[in-house]
Amino acid sequence: MLFGRDLRLPADLLFSRPPDAPLAPEELQKVDVQKRQDDLGYATVVYSFSKFYNYPLHKIAGFDKENPDLPYEQIQEPEVLLCVQIFRPEQKSTVYESHPSRLPNFHIDQEFMVLGCQYLTELRDKIECVSDKAIPGDYSECPKHAPEVTCKELYRSGFFYFNGVFYNDMRHPDCRDYSETIISWAESGNHGIGPFRKAFMERTKFIDLEIQLGYPYVYVHQGNCEHLVVFSDLQYYTHHHSSNRHAYPVHVTLRPKKRVLCMICHIHTAEWIVFDNKRVAENPTYFCKQCFFAFNYDENDQAIGSFRAYHHVDRSNIL
Ligand SMILES: [Zn+2]
Ligand SMILES: [Zn+2]
Repeated sequence: MLFGRDLRLPADLLFSRPPDAPLAPEELQKVDVQKRQDDLGYATVVYSFSKFYNYPLHKIAGFDKENPDLPYEQIQEPEVLLCVQIFRPEQKSTVYESHPSRLPNFHIDQEFMVLGCQYLTELRDKIECVSDKAIPGDYSECPKHAPEVTCKELYRSGFFYFNGVFYNDMRHPDCRDYSETIISWAESGNHGIGPFRKAFMERTKFIDLEIQLGYPYVYVHQGNCEHLVVFSDLQYYTHHHSSNRHAYPVHVTLRPKKRVLCMICHIHTAEWIVFDNKRVAENPTYFCKQCFFAFNYDENDQAIGSFRAYHHVDRSNIL
């Protein structure tokens, strides 16, 4: 069972191929369906990546009931819904640079349904990323001080890149135009890309975009946190969906996320990341709250040895 669904197919959906039609794809499909029947673990993985099994339309329709405080505004018809997939940012590492043939990991991190009439900023405000939640600064001297600010409040700039246009979020006076450097670099030499245009994210609606379904676009924020963005589906708005405009963009993916465990107890989720501590074998080391204080501080709250300590926001704690 996956999310309460029975994964076994009814008998009439099983394939039966005529013996005179030896089509390889059909044969492979038959083998795969049989494998899903026999191996529940395999079936769970297949269906967790299947778009049709991951559209909980009843959840979208019932969104208003789950949020009674949400203001109501009837959707004006005709309307369309776009399914937008936001991918996990690719980790930049020296391994990647020294092995250019290495393929990046493509993981869908979050998936939303947005309305054509919505502004791009409405989607941006719904995207949850650990880079936004991160707490800047070394807290090894004052680990019990409550964090004052998150990176999202400190660095508000960001853009979407769709089809030759950078859509910059310039709502706040602190916002910087990230696209300027890229556009001037593209114009400065014969790089074989461009010309690019730019527009305001807060003044552009999804219905005004020129996009291709399945094509990879980009969302950049926090300087260099880059997410692939893919529009995977386009649907007409129907009465199976929530009729409240304020219920969108609605988050539709129900995929569990792996958490980072404390490297000391291997039980609790990590809350601290410690660098350059000679008393541990790994650099950095992830600690849960209890292990962090028990291992790194004496009874007078004095740090044992020298190290740098940062708050760790775990992906499993956000959306
Ligand atoms: Zn990010
Ligand atoms: Zn621990």
